[in-house]
This record gives sequence, structure tokens and C-alpha cells, in this order.
Amino acid sequence: MKKNDIVEVTITDMGADGEGIGKVNGFTLFIKDGIIGDVLEVKIIKLKKHYGYARMMKILTPSKYRVEPLCPIARRCGGCQIQELKYEEQLAFKQNKVRNHLIRIGKFEEELITRVMDPIAGMEQPFYYRNKAQFPIGTDKEGNIITGFYAGRTHDIIPNKKCYLGVDVNETILDLVIGFMEQYKIQAYDEKVNKGLVRHVLIRYGFATKEIMVCIIINGKTLPHSEELVKALKELPGMTSITLNINEKNTNVIMGHQLEVLWGQGYISDKIGDITYQISPLSFYQVNPVQTKVMYDKVVEYADVKKEDVVWDLYCGIGTISLYLAQYVKEVHGVEIIPQAIEDAKKNSHINGIENAYFYVGKAEDVVPKKYKEEGIHADVIIVDPPRKGCDETLLDTILSIKPRRVVYVSCDSATLARDLQYLCERDYELKKVQVVDNFGNTVHVECVCLMTKSK
Ligand code: SAH
Repeated sequence: MKKNDIVEVTITDMGADGEGIGKVNGFTLFIKDGIIGDVLEVKIIKLKKHYGYARMMKILTPSKYRVEPLCPIARRCGGCQIQELKYEEQLAFKQNKVRNHLIRIGKFEEELITRVMDPIAGMEQPFYYRNKAQFPIGTDKEGNIITGFYAGRTHDIIPNKKCYLGVDVNETILDLVIGFMEQYKIQAYDEKVNKGLVRHVLIRYGFATKEIMVCIIINGKTLPHSEELVKALKELPGMTSITLNINEKNTNVIMGHQLEVLWGQGYISDKIGDITYQISPLSFYQVNPVQTKVMYDKVVEYADVKKEDVVWDLYCGIGTISLYLAQYVKEVHGVEIIPQAIEDAKKNSHINGIENAYFYVGKAEDVVPKKYKEEGIHADVIIVDPPRKGCDETLLDTILSIKPRRVVYVSCDSATLARDLQYLCERDYELKKVQVVDNFGNTVHVECVCLMTKSK
């Protein structure tokens, strides 16, 4: 086989990023958009010693798991990786991905993993579920202002205002923003030369409250004629917060640190279960509120707290899990790196009349070891919900020293989850339960809630 060869291949497996995997004469090929069961005609694009990459040219026999995607640009857009895979099979794929990571990376026995994993909690409706969208703004070759999503692994914008994972109002808002930019000749930002003004539009929608937030991220200090944009946006039913975020750095980090309220409040509210949450543009908030409730209920079940317990919620964001648990325990302590999120967390406990929640700004791996050393803090249950890179070893070591009765690990990356579970379970903990929750239908991403108890 050589580059540009056309070959026939049957997809027999799928990789962690949703790519199809098939073998030709024993040689492994990775094929984007190939679905398990497909027979494909593919073109070899890159060959390595033991494997290669090929492009799908023709579907010779479609897999029985292949479905027509709802979104016309599903294949090109980097947002959805597996929209052409039947939803039930997406769930099987995700359950299997977590299982494989726990066995291969975490080195857990297969038999143990089979025993501790409950069936995945899937979504009723795997579309229109996202409460947040961040649209990049750019310019096409003809000089028109465009918005859309990045193509997979690039920063090329595929023009599109209607994302089938998000809410309808996104499109209306984008039309208003782009119309405004055209009318007042406001330039889109160009990251290649670090010039132009409007970088991104962040939209959040409270599913329970129907409140809308629009945040315009700009490479500059002010948005000329912003009062005209405000005039148009504030007419939309539910509009609650219109803000500017200033990001003058040449970086692919979307948000800067500085916020300015243009109209309304600097935040919106939403509800999960009985708790009301205030969310500002810079704070992390789960993107799928329906499945988040499923996930948090699992956290409560696994934490199995008692009235006299002290709980630490690490990587707490706006205090969502802390406040969800507060009513059942003596006290909860949340730790989070983003100062605005901690401000939200404190306000959130106040709004909900919760008086036994305490919050600290800082890195979990700094705050917790320091508090353990200086104050000898105690915890009956520790919850961690880190970003994709997982937990720092310093933090895991401190958890081992604190010796909570239970550790509940919430993770959005099963590879780092497996690594961290192995670290704890090789020392003083036992893995008891794993619940995979699909918060991100049509993408390869997934959430996991895991219970570990202290070994006797
Ligand atoms: N538990 C929350 C947030 C989870 S997302 C919820 O369910 O909504 C992970 C959070 O960890 C984010 O809010 C992020 O800002 C925060 N974070 C990232 N690195 C951190 C660190 N080293 N220490 C503490 N918090 C961190």
C-alpha cells in the first residue's frame, strides 16, 4: 500500500475520538467518519510503520448503525464527531470507551469493571440540549462577516448559524450581531494577524428560567455603537444580560478577564433540581442541564452522606454540587480556581438560603494541601470534578492523607480518570461504582461518576 492508493475496507472498531478503524491485509487504517459495520472505499492519505490514515471516498455498504445526520454540515464541523452513528450505538460506544480506558490505562481487572459499571444513562433527546454556545466571528474570502464552527482540528470557520445541539435563539442573536457589524462596519477579529475587533459571541440560555445572556468578546476596549446592538438584542424575550468581554491577547483562549455590563445584569440564573444558580460569563456551568441533574443525583447517591458529615467539593465551579449536597450534611467546602465562579458560588448559597457552604479561590492542589497542613482539615466525603487533565498528584496524595470515607470522582475525560483512579486504588481506595452519563449526545465526549471507598 502507498499514499493515494484506493482500497476497500470494513470498519470493525471505533477509536476514542470516533474515528473508524479497519484492517487491510492485517494493516490498520484510521478513517474519519467511518462507522462500525461500514464497507468503504478509501484513499490512503498518510502511512506510518504500523498504521495509516485514509479518507472515506465512497460508502460501498452502509453499516446498519449508520443514520442520516440531522445537520447538513455534520461531517465537516468539528463539533459533532458521531452524528452519523445511531444514538443507541453512540451510547454503547461511550460505555465501551470508558470501560477500555479503565482496563487499559487504569489497569483494573476486566471482571471488576464489568461488576462496578452500571448501564450508561443516555439522553431522551440527543439534540437541542446545549445551554451554551461560543461562536467565532471571522471574514470569508469575499470579505463578508461570517460565524459558524471550526472544522475539526483547525481554526477554519465553516459558516453556520444553526447548530442542532443548541437552542433556536442562537441563530436570531447571531443575525442581529452580524447585521449590526455590517451596518456599522465593525471588523471581525483575524487571529492570524491579531487585528480586527469582534472575536466571539458567547450565548447562554437558562433552560429552567428562559433567561438569555449574550457576551461579545472583543479585541479592544470598546465596541462602537454598542447602544444600537443593545437596542436590538434587548427586545428578545428572555434577554437578561448583555456584556462585553475584553480579550486583547493573541491567544486561542476565548475569554479575557475583563467584563463590562452593557445592559441588564452581569449574569443569568438557572435551576437544577431545587437549587437556583446564578451564572456569569466567565464561570463554568454544565452545558446540558437535563443530564447534569442525572449526574448530580448520582453524586448524591454515591456520596451517601450523613447529617453530621463534612464534605469537600473540589473544582466546584459556581458551587453547583456543593449546594446540591449542602442540605444533607453539616458543612460543605468548595474550592475553585476562577474568582468570578467563587463569587457566583457565594451568591448562590445566599440566594438559596444555604448557610453551611464555604468557598475558597485557588488551585485545588494548592488550597487543600495547605489547609490540611496548617489547619488539619477533615473530610468524610471528598468530591472531585476536575477539567480534562485530571487531578494533580499533590492533591491525590493529600486526599490519601485526609482519608475520607468516600471519594466521588466526576470526570469528563475517562483517560485521565483511569489514571487517577489507579493512583488512589493502588494505595488506599477501592473502586465500587462507575456510572457513565451522556451529557454530550452526537459527540465523543462523556461524563463519568465513580465511587471509591476507603479500604478496610
Ligand atoms: N463541579 C462543577 C465544575 C466542574 S468543571 C460543576 O459541575 O459545574 C471544572 C472546574 O474546575 C471549572 O470550574 C474550572 O474553572 C475549575 N478548575 C480548573 N483547574 C482547577 C484547579 N487546578 N483547581 C481548582 N479548580 C480548577
